[in-house]
Amino acid sequence: MMDPGGQHDALGAQSCPEYAELIVKYVDGVASEEERERLEAHIATCANCRREVQGHARVANATRDIHFVDLPEDAWRSYWKNTYNRMERTVGWALVVIGFVVVGICAVGRFAHWIATNQTLNLAEKLGLGAVVVGLVVIVTGAVRERIVMRRFDRYRRVKQ
Ligand SMILES: [Zn+2]
Repeated sequence: MMDPGGQHDALGAQSCPEYAELIVKYVDGVASEEERERLEAHIATCANCRREVQGHARVANATRDIHFVDLPEDAWRSYWKNTYNRMERTVGWALVVIGFVVVGICAVGRFAHWIATNQTLNLAEKLGLGAVVVGLVVIVTGAVRERIVMRRFDRYRRVKQ
């Protein structure tokens, strides 16, 4: 992005007014990624703003030492905490799904066997119970698949933001 120009000559070695606030945020490390990219693209072509950034950085450096040591460590800690929480949730869900599938398969097999070998049920009752079991399996499979698709969609959305 090019600056509109003009102000530099009139105001000497000052930064562009529309970037003044952003430069402070940038030096303080609180600018968003989009803002950082915007300013970096601008200072690549604007020497005055570049000098302004360097000047601010020098002034800020004295008070920044504490900041600089603390911030990455905090970010690091929260990164690991988030990763751990996410992993914990993933493992929890995997166990629930696996357990559910194993128990479900066993139950369906047992039930199918019970229906097939039952002497007191007539064919219509056997078919009816079979239909109920198949229907339940379809519903549960659908619900699990939906959950997995939703999680994927969630992750996609989080990445996009
Ligand atoms: Zn500028």
